[in-house]
Amino acid sequence: MREFKIAEPKTADELAALLAETTETTALIAGGTDLIDELKSGVATAGLVVDLRGVAGLAGITKEKDGGLRIGAMTRVVDLAGDVTVAKDYPGLKEAALSLATPQLRNAGTVGGNLCQRPRCWYYRDPEVACRKKGGFNCFAYQGRNKYHCLFGGSGCFIVAPSDLAPALVSLGARVTIGSAKGDKTIPLEGFYALPEIDVTRENVLEKGQFLKSVAVPAPKPGQKGAYVKLKERGTWDFALASAAVTAVVKGGTLEEIAIVMGGVAPVPWRLKKAEDVLRGKPATEPLIRQAADAALADATPLRENGYKTDLLYAALKQAVMAVAA
Ligand SMILES: Cc1cc2nc3c(=O)[nH]c(=O)nc-3n(C[C@H](O)[C@H](O)[C@H](O)COP(=O)(O)OP(=O)(O)OC[C@H]3O[C@@H](n4cnc5c(N)ncnc54)[C@H](O)[C@@H]3O)c2cc1C
Repeated sequence: MREFKIAEPKTADELAALLAETTETTALIAGGTDLIDELKSGVATAGLVVDLRGVAGLAGITKEKDGGLRIGAMTRVVDLAGDVTVAKDYPGLKEAALSLATPQLRNAGTVGGNLCQRPRCWYYRDPEVACRKKGGFNCFAYQGRNKYHCLFGGSGCFIVAPSDLAPALVSLGARVTIGSAKGDKTIPLEGFYALPEIDVTRENVLEKGQFLKSVAVPAPKPGQKGAYVKLKERGTWDFALASAAVTAVVKGGTLEEIAIVMGGVAPVPWRLKKAEDVLRGKPATEPLIRQAADAALADATPLRENGYKTDLLYAALKQAVMAVAA
């Protein structure tokens, strides 16, 4: 592990000023469950590691005046999973938080770190491999070992978005507040993530000097239901091979409004708008869900070893839609 300096800002303004002024290569550390591995292996390097744990006001869950919820970036995953309002109003988000990693990792890991974690692609994680994400010329997964890679959205890089919280939050219409020395700005979480064709070396739109401050989830609508289904290779902790987050307004068994977001199948949380169009305004039945999955899969381009994920997409979608329609 290479040497680095540590900074411990105490306020968001101090953090923003530090990030604006420093000329060092900088890494933000929250719970450290992903970043420390990257620094140890040499996949990530930093001259300055900025510790977010002492920054006032970045942790905690608060109810907004409009009935929505604000979740600070430094809120621990365990606190999100145990929050009573999350359990009552956003059951899909609770399921996503509980499905994530292990109790130890949920204790240390934060919501901001979860949303900003780097991909698990084994070529990217191998310090000996100079893949495109690390400034090289090739994506070795494309013609190599690609059973864990993407069905949608890959162009020159075929990673999948690993976060469990991201699909659940995108399906809820969450917005993120980004801090910097220029002030705060708020954007939809869906627009926070960026495909490799935008910039293959990063997975989101954060620029130098910016950091994630909080996530805001809109108040639940009357009749709103949610579910998160995560399909994994192993029964114990694991990342999703495919996961489906579904948020829908259900009236008399009919899906009046619906948002479907998949994890593990694309470099970003992947919205299945064509499937939503098939399901919207109708009672959920197995043949209709099959039709919805087929509409979504018309855009899929499986690689040599990951065609099985098309079946997982259908299975996750069916379980999640049936759960909200029940
Ligand atoms: C064995 C293992 C299993 C795991 N399983 C899962 C799983 O099943 N599902 C899942 O979703 N994840 C999983 N993870 C990934 C991850 O460790 C956790 O999701 C955790 O929540 C990350 O949070 P952290 O606070 O530890 O992040 P850190 O490691 O501190 O940071 C992760 C990244 O986010 C950046 N970052 C952190 N906070 C901010 C911020 N506020 N603004 C901008 N950038 C920021 C850091 O610079 C770093 O690049 C797993 C990790 C391990 C090691």
